Amino acid sequence: MPDGCMRIDSCRRCGIKLKIKQKCSICTQPIKFVCNDCRLETEEQIHSTCRLVDMHYKPLAPEIA
Ligand SMILES: [Zn+2]
Ligand SMILES: [Zn+2]
Repeated sequence: MPDGCMRIDSCRRCGIKLKIKQKCSICTQPIKFVCNDCRLETEEQIHSTCRLVDMHYKPLAPEIA
């Protein structure tokens, strides 16, 4: 597995390795990370291609509460 696919940044505050918080529903690659220590969260990495797939794959359905 090439490293470029799963880029895990270090926390900007503590410099420790971030934990995966959210994965892309299409390609299952991590798109959001959180720091275990200071709870700093990264911004969600949007996969534009996955989003397109997602839109076709899951037609807009209202959430059933
Ligand atoms: Zn994706
Ligand atoms: Zn931190």
